[in-house]
Amino acid sequence: MLKIFIVILLLGLASAALAPVIAAKCPAVQKEKMRTTVKRFRVTAYCPCQKCCGKYADGITASGHKIRFGDRFVAAPLEFRFGTSMLIPFYGTVEVRDRGGKIKGDRLDVFFDTHQKALDWGVKFLDVVIFEAENVA
Ligand SMILES: [Zn+2]
Repeated sequence: MLKIFIVILLLGLASAALAPVIAAKCPAVQKEKMRTTVKRFRVTAYCPCQKCCGKYADGITASGHKIRFGDRFVAAPLEFRFGTSMLIPFYGTVEVRDRGGKIKGDRLDVFFDTHQKALDWGVKFLDVVIFEAENVA
């Protein structure tokens, strides 16, 4: 029992000692904290072509991002702000940079630079980890 208490005490001291160091290195830590949630999505894929984007096939996403070869990002519903990070299994950890008419509720659309890669992805039901910065005010 005493051992456990000492361990807890040491952990407390260590985190108390480290907190100012972390905050000093990364000023954003002081203003924002990260909220992590896991949600199941129906994840489809798209590319910048006209088949996928129709009249929006201009190479610029809804957030104003200019698409470059090799880019990876996701189109997410309005409730997820641009810049929100998402860990999408089989795809990676990417930012929300686009919207889509059908991308509502529990749907996401991951971006690929070719139509074939988007077709190869198909439709996947995945547990996605969402990292959102919460302003602590
Ligand atoms: Zn396409």
